[in-house]
Amino acid sequence: MNGAVAMEATRRRTQASTNGKTSEQSEQPAQWGRAWEVDWFSLIGVIGLLCFAPFIVFYFVMACDQYQCSVSQPLFELYQGETTLLSIWARAPSFTWTAAKIYAIWVAFQVFLYMCVPDFTHKFIPGYVGGVQDGARTPAGLINKYEINGLQCWLITHALWFVNAHYFHWFSPTIIFDNWIPLMWCANILGYAVSTFAFIKAYFFPTNSEDCKFTGNIFYNYMMGIEFNPRIGKWFDFKLFFNGRPGIVAWTLINLSYMAKQQELYGQVTNSMILVNVLQAIYVLDFFWNEAWYLKTIDICHDHFGWYLGWGDCVWLPYLYTLQGLYLVYHPVQLSNAHALAVLLLGLVGYYIFRSTNHQKDLFRRTEGACSIWGRKPTYIECSYRSADGSNHRSKLLTSGFWGVARHFNYTGDLMGSLAYCAACGFGHILPYFYIVYMTILLVHRCVRDEHRCSSKYGKDWKRYTDTVPCRLIPGVF
Ligand code: NDP
Repeated sequence: MNGAVAMEATRRRTQASTNGKTSEQSEQPAQWGRAWEVDWFSLIGVIGLLCFAPFIVFYFVMACDQYQCSVSQPLFELYQGETTLLSIWARAPSFTWTAAKIYAIWVAFQVFLYMCVPDFTHKFIPGYVGGVQDGARTPAGLINKYEINGLQCWLITHALWFVNAHYFHWFSPTIIFDNWIPLMWCANILGYAVSTFAFIKAYFFPTNSEDCKFTGNIFYNYMMGIEFNPRIGKWFDFKLFFNGRPGIVAWTLINLSYMAKQQELYGQVTNSMILVNVLQAIYVLDFFWNEAWYLKTIDICHDHFGWYLGWGDCVWLPYLYTLQGLYLVYHPVQLSNAHALAVLLLGLVGYYIFRSTNHQKDLFRRTEGACSIWGRKPTYIECSYRSADGSNHRSKLLTSGFWGVARHFNYTGDLMGSLAYCAACGFGHILPYFYIVYMTILLVHRCVRDEHRCSSKYGKDWKRYTDTVPCRLIPGVF
């Protein structure tokens, strides 16, 4: 609350320049981050998501389990009166203690790795940035430190998975698929528990009260979060842990489990399953390879930690981002060589654009513009902003490379990669295409949200940037 008063009080004239050219003085709005006030439209969306998102996840997973991945069949049968919601619910596998044990061991193991594995990879892998890294400046003006060790944790987890599958045989590699719905109940318990804990913690023992935001609306606070960077102790950072692990480490293991199930059921693994595994593994590995860069993305820099991130990371991500592999267990599609090649190319080109765009911004920001982008000195808009503590800061917005093509070309590359995962499943059902529909909504909404935030952070300087780079995702279209 004090932050609001401080932020409201901090408006003043600052100077900005474009590649050294001085622009007019601009009135800089002092606040950024998520909203302080909730309009009716947002509130309805928030309540709708809180009520329906868990059922959306259940619906897709249940459609695979009971209806061979047909999204329309359950609705059709309900409409015809051939089934009821109660009978669908009754047929769904329920919570089991076996699943609870697997899930508890999994989460505890990831917490252990996160807290205890020292970063060693950066010492012998050139180009990899690990160890203790700075996050971005928070609205209250703090710079948090993060221990980056995601790559090691991913490598250790997967090494153990392969050693088990090929040597120890402690558990079957299909264990995740075999317990998929019971595990979903456990993931929901964790997702709700962590979101509720973060909500209560924000009121009673926040990590940094200056970076808390209360809107006065309990649903919005619960969903979008109050605390900016909740932590336990010095190092257990909720956002870094839950965003990256257990969900993203699990992503590739879940796909491997689907692959093992295909092998078990049909005696072979299809090229579509291999494509999905490979393309998504590139994306996941990229995430951990660039975990230090991830500290500068919207999730960590701008979003508060609430149900949206807590439940989303525990349930939405592992269950809906892996729908392609799940679908391929029920429908083992063998693609023609031409189709497989087209999917591979789309995925790799999308990844290239995604990675290069993100890399260009990261390089540009790290070197403060003293770098080369596409063989030239970068062009940029210089801008300034104020944090809640009243300090004035300078920043730069890149306008060359992919950042001169569109303001969020990294999202465009991400969408191309997402489409490739879906197209790998052929055209038999719409269920695997949910991912591209969801990612389009997510990234377009994120684009609008980010631009709103940047506009309130940078004021007139942001306007100069949007005049220089007019399109968001696709040049000449949007
Ligand atoms: P960005 O990495 O694009 O970060 C946006 C921020 O970058 C802005 O808020 C601004 O922050 C800064 N910025 C904006 N324009 C410029 C510029 N021209 N030059 C320099 N800095 C600029 O967005 P995200 O964090 O959303 O996404 C990161 C990646 O993660 C994307 O590639 C996205 O596709 C991917 N992603 C994937 C998701 C998934 O579920 N698979 C979900 C979300 C993202 P500042 O205040 O520092 O100026």
